[in-house]
Amino acid sequence: MKTCKYCGKEFTYNRRSQEYCSDECRKRVKYEKDRAWLEARPGKSAEYGRNWYANNTESRKQAARKCYQKRCLKKIEKERNNL
Ligand SMILES: [Zn+2]
Repeated sequence: MKTCKYCGKEFTYNRRSQEYCSDECRKRVKYEKDRAWLEARPGKSAEYGRNWYANNTESRKQAARKCYQKRCLKKIEKERNNL
């Protein structure tokens, strides 16, 4: 038996390296770690978002164009089928 490092529940382990009783606990630990990381760096996530936005202007435009083309093609196809 081993004790879960997150919730303290006892569990039987399959692997010796297993530290948590379930996937749920593992995910929660990861989530809390990520959140703590972001909280320790205020504004970082917003900064990342801004950087991404600034660095991907061209690919965003291309994606929008592709989307538009797809929509147009669909419209044409539909009209063709109606004839
Ligand atoms: Zn647990």
